Amino acid sequence: MPDPAWVKVVAVAQLLVLLLIPLEMYSVSRSWTRGQYDARDALTNVGVSIGSIFFWGTLSWILLSTVTVAYRHRLLDIPFTWWTFLLAFVLEDLRYYWWHRIGHRSRWFWASHVVHHSSQHFNLSTNLRQSWTSQFSGLILMSVPLAWLGFSPAMVGLAFSLNLLYQFWLHTEAIDRMPRWFEWLLNTPSHHRVHHGSNARYLDANYAGVFMIWDRMFGSFVPEQAAEPVRYGIVKNLATFNPVRIALHEYAAILRDQLCPGLTLRQRLGYLFGPPGWSRDGLQGTTAGLRAAERSRIGVRDCAAA
Ligand SMILES: [Zn+2]
Ligand SMILES: [Zn+2]
Repeated sequence: MPDPAWVKVVAVAQLLVLLLIPLEMYSVSRSWTRGQYDARDALTNVGVSIGSIFFWGTLSWILLSTVTVAYRHRLLDIPFTWWTFLLAFVLEDLRYYWWHRIGHRSRWFWASHVVHHSSQHFNLSTNLRQSWTSQFSGLILMSVPLAWLGFSPAMVGLAFSLNLLYQFWLHTEAIDRMPRWFEWLLNTPSHHRVHHGSNARYLDANYAGVFMIWDRMFGSFVPEQAAEPVRYGIVKNLATFNPVRIALHEYAAILRDQLCPGLTLRQRLGYLFGPPGWSRDGLQGTTAGLRAAERSRIGVRDCAAA
């Protein structure tokens, strides 16, 4: 079991890195570093963050009890040593990769994760824009295998917190590229800028938390191209700074699609669990369709336009 002091140290570090936000804001305002801040956007990030913290705080018992039950039925008793923790950290990062990938590839889970991608700006305050519904999207079940294997909830929690802490510095335009070996092995601002891009070429790419090797292994790595600057945001950007609409808009869109008359069961499931942009008319609105459309300049239809 890791010393609870470590968990506290990481929690304090997570709070301290928040101080980097005003620092980056000031540095951008003086043109010392590259970047953009929009006051309304940054304030919206804070608003979304307050909601996210509220729902995490009130609903984290769902995650905690799921992990605790899994640990109670563990296969092994894994002690806390430096190498078992390293293993837990790597496996937790692998879990994060697939959690994140599913969060982009299936609309029900995207409805929860889209919040993080809904800003058209990219700076350290973008970190604050987090989901409100991650506790009940169903993906918390992905935390079960590590605990079931025998890694204690405290060890898994520490690995999870360190993973999130690492990701804080990724949301910036102030850093162009890290050394080549670093860019190969680890996630960097350049890779994560691509992840936040709405350009067809950059969609569904670079899901990594810490280790970039997962994207390289599973075929989702896309490098940032100087010839194609990243357009931050989502395919259909939101014209709102209302945190509630930002947090829940995709669920409302799912509901609207479900209410379309004459849908078959297969079509209902497609609108619910298919890739974002899936339509009964075809795949034109999905990443594959958008890439094809960009190539051949074909128009894109959605359910409302059908
Ligand atoms: Zn994402
Ligand atoms: Zn991000």
